[in-house]
Amino acid sequence: MLQDKILNFINGEFVATDKWFENRTPISNAVIGQVAEAGKAEVDAAVAAAQAALKGPWGKMTLAKRVELLEALVAEINNRFDEFLEAECADTGKPRSLASHIDIPRGAANFKVFADVIKNVPGEFFDMATPDGGTAINYTFRSPVGVVGVICPWNLPLLLMTWKVGPALACGNTVVVKPSEETPRTAALLGEVMNKVGIPKGVYNVVHGFGPNSAGEFLTTHPDVDAITFTGETRTGEIINRAASVGSRPVSLEMGGKNAAIVFADCDFDAAIEGTLRSAFANCGQVCLGTERVYVERPIFEKFVAAMKAGAEKLKIGVPEDPATGMGPLISKEHQNKVLSYFQIAKEEGATIVTGGGVPDMPGELKDGCWVQPTIWTGLPEDARVIKEEIFGPCCHIAPFDSEDEVLEKANDNIYGLATAIWTKDVSRANRVAQQMEVGIAWVNSWFLRDLRTAFGGAKQSGIGREGGVHSLEFYTELKNICIKL
Ligand code: NAD
Repeated sequence: MLQDKILNFINGEFVATDKWFENRTPISNAVIGQVAEAGKAEVDAAVAAAQAALKGPWGKMTLAKRVELLEALVAEINNRFDEFLEAECADTGKPRSLASHIDIPRGAANFKVFADVIKNVPGEFFDMATPDGGTAINYTFRSPVGVVGVICPWNLPLLLMTWKVGPALACGNTVVVKPSEETPRTAALLGEVMNKVGIPKGVYNVVHGFGPNSAGEFLTTHPDVDAITFTGETRTGEIINRAASVGSRPVSLEMGGKNAAIVFADCDFDAAIEGTLRSAFANCGQVCLGTERVYVERPIFEKFVAAMKAGAEKLKIGVPEDPATGMGPLISKEHQNKVLSYFQIAKEEGATIVTGGGVPDMPGELKDGCWVQPTIWTGLPEDARVIKEEIFGPCCHIAPFDSEDEVLEKANDNIYGLATAIWTKDVSRANRVAQQMEVGIAWVNSWFLRDLRTAFGGAKQSGIGREGGVHSLEFYTELKNICIKL
């Protein structure tokens, strides 16, 4: 059953406030709940609870016990899988078929993956001769960084939140989470699960609200928050980076992208089409790793554009419950307006609209939802705004290229550097191109294939730092060298 009042979760208790904001479903834009907005007092209480928990049972708990609790957490999320699924689909409107494969299972798996990492990570050891003819030994010891402020986006709410909360808790930290104002439900539901499995109070806290002059700003400027991890737009990341500089607190920033796919004529054509369709339109194009620029080698350009058009036009736009739904709505009216404004810019810039470019005709109450058509353009010059700026919608521009050097130059000519997908059967070329792409993740003959033990993050304005596997430990622990003179 969906809650119609979504509360903050502070020190193990659900907390209302006297300020509420609306929770809407993007399916019809109808109000489906009210969210209690945290003010300064609630953020203070959450941070104080998190600080106290560090000194309490959580801070004193053995690693083995902590891991046991995190494993119990995974089991309990899976027990309540359908509730998480319903909550995530209500907030985002995304197809159940997608959320039941990606959002919820991977949202749970993040706790298991990082519990395994912390259990198995080795340290370093050095034996040294001392000037007096004796010996000293050095070894590394990892301590938690403390209270971690976790600021989340709306596109994969549970998954991207636990991607940070999982390693933070595995490493012994406590957290205060600020979910996106668009998607507060699964973060709140996770509070119930934390209580059920016996995670001590104050370890996991949730404060709801917005960015400026609301919970987001109060949390990131709070002097007792020891580190801040963020996923969201680059502009917001810059503000958070400035806030974190006060008190010299570490930040991990996972930010925007304008990812290029590079398709060579020798690729497995069907695989390239399938992967590129997914990377452009999955989650209604609201995936940071998604492709908005596609470069195709000239001999297969026309055939590729035709196949992409056919694939886009086959996508069924619809409600989460319908198993045939291939694409849901955008997250909000505000975001729909932003994406539609880029559809208009594309026209003004002289794009050829291969397919889409507008709002689909939806029946009944769905008319008021945040729908847009999957959209493909060709014919724009490389300096067009539609090619340079992140749109974060179900759209891509496809351009032909003639040489490897030319495509590398174009694909890298962007302020962002998150991900790329390269399609070719020539392994040497794939390797050469992948190494020269200015990105954090380069896929060859695939897209969104993620081994959670590997480094994840962005180059250039797509991010600062890497998370995933042992790389997360670099952020969520303080690495100490202990030197013992024997
Ligand atoms: P956003 O930057 O608008 O919001 C993200 C979060 O920051 C929200 O919780 C918001 O309330 C909060 N926030 C906003 N202003 C703030 C402030 N001044 N102080 C503190 N908190 C503030 O991003 P979004 O629209 O939710 O998400 C979409 C963006 O996220 C896209 O740019 C996308 O590329 C990016 N993204 C990146 C990754 C990645 O791994 N690199 C993953 C997913 C999404």
